[in-house]
Amino acid sequence: MSNLLEVRDLKKYYHLGKGVGKEQANVVRAVDGINFAVKKCETLGLVGESGCGKSTAARVILRLLTATAGEILYEGQNIELLSHQQLLPYRRKMQIIFQDQAGSLNPQLTIGSALGEPLRIHRLVIGKKELKAKVEHLLELVGLCSEHMCRYPHELSGGQRQRIALARALALNPQLIVCDEPVSALDVSIQAQIINLLQDLQHKCGLTYIFIAHDLRVVNHISDRIAVMYLGKIVELAGKKALYSGAKHPYTQMLLSSIPRLAPAGQRQRTIFSGELPNPLHPPAGCHFHIRCPHAFVRCTIEEPLMQMIDSDHNVACHLLDK
Ligand code: SF4
Repeated sequence: MSNLLEVRDLKKYYHLGKGVGKEQANVVRAVDGINFAVKKCETLGLVGESGCGKSTAARVILRLLTATAGEILYEGQNIELLSHQQLLPYRRKMQIIFQDQAGSLNPQLTIGSALGEPLRIHRLVIGKKELKAKVEHLLELVGLCSEHMCRYPHELSGGQRQRIALARALALNPQLIVCDEPVSALDVSIQAQIINLLQDLQHKCGLTYIFIAHDLRVVNHISDRIAVMYLGKIVELAGKKALYSGAKHPYTQMLLSSIPRLAPAGQRQRTIFSGELPNPLHPPAGCHFHIRCPHAFVRCTIEEPLMQMIDSDHNVACHLLDK
């Protein structure tokens, strides 16, 4: 199947003002040269600790933020080069849902109005009758019913609000939905329901997802491939089976070891890693992970590892591969 989206050497840097004689020291490289592709109807999991750059990457891909450098190819078209006007058709094709469903819904609008708004703005319906029918259809798609049209967001549970956020995204018939930690704030049983719903909708509507999460447990069920990010870079990118049964990057192994049920049989012992995510203003030289990595050796402290293909669907950036 062909790529719906391809990201090439994408960067997003924030310049926080000049320090005295230290211009480079005040640059945060939130996204620092990431590459990946997502095929049509595929789900790519994007995983890493808070602050590793995954949400920034998603916003740059959707052009909610301007890239510092790189290419974003949507069906082969570099949308990074498009004007605001030229971008409009792509905005409809690419939607996002957030972790904070309450914050993404207007508390003063009923659910019916919230779902009707994008349909009216984009003139996708003619007249009130068609509008009501379309809103009812959207509610049905996400497992709710017409009764919910008259309710306000505060009258719904967290899971129901996430269903509404999803229905609102679906209103514009998107091809790609970026799901930014969509279940992180929900109870585990509700998480499973939302993930099952996302999978059903993927089959029914031919959707492609980028699914962002901070741990590998959540993306396990839904992802076809997974990209692991650390301090603005992708350190491992692999098909789900290859990643869960044979993760090669020590950071991925750390994430897996925190979920013993998912770790391969020989690696179920919890790996204790020291330290927290370093300050992105002052990332460690060489491999950014070296101050937390139990396998670090001299080369890791001076030379940044490049991404290497170790299998047709498995790429890793770690000097251990050359040992
Ligand atoms: Fe650890 Fe070195 Fe690999 Fe970085 S390059 S993950 S420090 S072994």
